[in-house]
Amino acid sequence: MTSLAHFEALAGSIAIPSKAVIDGKVTPALSGKTFDNVSPRNGRIINAVAEGDSADIDAAVASARAAFEDGRWRKKHYNEKKRILFKLADLMKRDAEQLALLESLDVGKPINDSLKVDIPASIKTVRYYAEALDKVYGEVGPETSDRISFAVHEPLGVIGCVVPWNFPLMMAAWKIAPALAMGNSVVLKPAEQSPLTALKLGELALEAGLPPGVLNVVPGFGAAAGKALALHMDVDMIAFTGSGAVGKLLMQYSGQSNLKRVSLELGGKSPQIVFADCPDLKAAAEHAAWGIFYNQGEVCTAASRLLVHEDIADAFVENLLGIARTITPGDPLSPDTRFGAMVSEEQMKTALRYISTANSEGCALRLGGRRAREDTGGFYVEPTVFDAVKADATLSREEVFGPVLAVTRFSDTGQALKMANGTVYGLAAGVWTKDVSLAHRAARELRAGLVWVNGWDACDITMPFGGFKQSGFGRDRSLHALHKYADLKSVSITLR
Ligand code: NAD
Repeated sequence: MTSLAHFEALAGSIAIPSKAVIDGKVTPALSGKTFDNVSPRNGRIINAVAEGDSADIDAAVASARAAFEDGRWRKKHYNEKKRILFKLADLMKRDAEQLALLESLDVGKPINDSLKVDIPASIKTVRYYAEALDKVYGEVGPETSDRISFAVHEPLGVIGCVVPWNFPLMMAAWKIAPALAMGNSVVLKPAEQSPLTALKLGELALEAGLPPGVLNVVPGFGAAAGKALALHMDVDMIAFTGSGAVGKLLMQYSGQSNLKRVSLELGGKSPQIVFADCPDLKAAAEHAAWGIFYNQGEVCTAASRLLVHEDIADAFVENLLGIARTITPGDPLSPDTRFGAMVSEEQMKTALRYISTANSEGCALRLGGRRAREDTGGFYVEPTVFDAVKADATLSREEVFGPVLAVTRFSDTGQALKMANGTVYGLAAGVWTKDVSLAHRAARELRAGLVWVNGWDACDITMPFGGFKQSGFGRDRSLHALHKYADLKSVSITLR
């Protein structure tokens, strides 16, 4: 069953979603316009997708607002909200293979990863917040003889979710599940590179019984649909994952419109520090390789900087290269592929440009560095490793969002921590050491929202996720995410 031929046949037989979901209806854009949705697997057009613009955003926001005001979702008993969200999770599970296929076709990630990571994690996210929604308690204030006071969490209203293309369904689930769990209405704007699973999710939500208008999905371009959503006077919050450049625009749009709240999950240049007393060099080398090459390096928490102690550096880098050589670009729809295509021609060119800059700045190319599988018409880049990357090199400072690793050697702990903190980002960081004190000290001193000791990406939906510094603010995942989509109201009753 699980062969390339199986997935190719499935791609030819399933209904590929192409329309927006607005006010409970699956609908073309009001303008009738569509845009070509290209697969990075082979550069061919998958389908024509509704090109939503400000008119569609207006319709979606009006529908979301009406749903919020009349309480068709917000006022439902929590048991009923739970039932519908669990039903949505069940439908996602029912269609998991289709969702995985749509994701891999759309963004070029290996089907095995879509099947085993993206889709199960998205389903788990919906279940997690369905389980949590009746465990949100308010507070009772300090007692006085003539007054009783309490604070309650109330939904914000209409939430605009703007998400990127690297984990399209998972990023959408991280936002819409807690937003809906708190009783809000949502307008989701998927990235133009990856609309398919979001559209399917919108259809499944209707099938699950989510009332019309509670979850609207409007595909379209960032500068049109995304901007219209972020400038809208009737949107209470924008929950965003994407680049710092767009994050800065969203703050401006908020100021230019209604001071809507903004939460930002942005990029990173995350360091992984391997100290000389690393407890497991083999595991550390595996994590160094997969920390950057997983999902073709298109991961906000990619371990794109490897800082390795000079005493072990030569042997460590050889081990790492040995593993990296086994990671070769392949067809995303083949179950054997562990490393697929980059999302778009543009993203591939960005990675190749950074590789060329690293070469010209004197970094030592040890592996890869070229486009691959060009004959397929797809957008593939070889796993690439540069050694001897200086702390001030472009590759040490800027996010590539592609499969390019910068290796830098260090001689003492203070220098390593200083280099680790030496970028504008602060999303994730890792340390490998046997020394408990060093592990704790590093965990404290690293300016990052996520710190992993002797592992990489060792967490899940139960722990908060987000950045320090220009990696953003606001947290996805965990129970904290619920409060992000709520306001706190104080009520005081005077006893007469
Ligand atoms: P992007 O910022 O270009 O696009 C993200 C989304 O914003 C898309 O839906 C896009 O259409 C929309 N958008 C673009 N311009 C807009 C505008 N003017 N107004 C409103 N919306 C607009 O980012 P990308 O290239 O899709 O994603 C890559 C970036 O996302 C990287 O920097 C990566 O690190 C970051 N990222 C962060 C996390 C995290 O959780 N911290 C997760 C994944 C990706």
